[in-house]
Amino acid sequence: MIISGKEIQVRRSKKLIQKIEKLSHKPVLVIVQIGNNKESKVYISQKIKFGHSIGCEVEHYHLESDVTFDFIKKLIGDFNADDDIRGIIVQLPLPKKFDQSAIIECIDPSKDVDGLTSTNIHKLVTGEEGMIPATARGVLTLLEESGIKISGAHAVIVGRSVLVGRSLGQVLLNRDATVTICHSKTKNLEKITSQADILISATGIPGLITAKHVKRGQIVIDVGTTAMDGRLVGDVDFASISKKVAYITPVPGGVGPMTILSLFENVVK
Ligand code: NAP
Repeated sequence: MIISGKEIQVRRSKKLIQKIEKLSHKPVLVIVQIGNNKESKVYISQKIKFGHSIGCEVEHYHLESDVTFDFIKKLIGDFNADDDIRGIIVQLPLPKKFDQSAIIECIDPSKDVDGLTSTNIHKLVTGEEGMIPATARGVLTLLEESGIKISGAHAVIVGRSVLVGRSLGQVLLNRDATVTICHSKTKNLEKITSQADILISATGIPGLITAKHVKRGQIVIDVGTTAMDGRLVGDVDFASISKKVAYITPVPGGVGPMTILSLFENVVK
């Protein structure tokens, strides 16, 4: 069965629109972009389009890569102090010269809708869960909406970034999954991935997960998104695997729409 993130996004958007209509003010999300990463441009335009479609304001601040840290800190400080602004994200990745953590720490944790400040990461690790990082929340929603049982399942995650792999591992652990996280130094990857009930790949290596990495009846979630020859491709070799496993997400149209939805669910939260 193919799990359509697009369909879940449409369904959940209706609930989000109803919640937004009941608010006294239109929620405002600010997106800070630094530099000119090509993929960021696409992701930001998708966020702006989706935000407008559900009744949110989205303000996009595009800074050149020669901007100073002090300027960024002051700008984010002004957004923190503005009561009309409910969410702030710094679009990642940043140009290499910047200290990503230092910039993210400038965001007030209550407006940190990407869930990446140390306050929100701490809450995630302790199980309190403030703002869950959008992609992790998106994968969780996708599993829940598809009726997949998380408690007691063995979840294998390939990729250990804070943005995706680690935060998702914590989200699933908080829901009583047994979690294994793999990375580029993992030995015998296929031996580990084929033991999973739920296999999630988030590496950005197209075609990394092939038929030998999966077993019959598995649930396979492909977070990977890489631009190749003018289209987006995932980590999973969809053609060879889809006949073998029970559930699989496509790229595009799987986790991507869920991440955008989750970002705005965090804004409303
Ligand atoms: P990242 O920071 O580059 O992390 C990639 C991870 O993959 C690292 O932990 C790396 O291991 C691991 N890895 C690389 N090669 C591997 C291999 N051969 N075997 C096993 N593990 C390997 O990337 P990210 O920010 O987490 O993003 C990962 C992918 O998800 C990208 O394609 C990105 O575009 C996509 N993404 C999609 C969404 C969405 O909404 N669909 C959202 C966020 C990200 P080491 O730690 O050992 O280097």
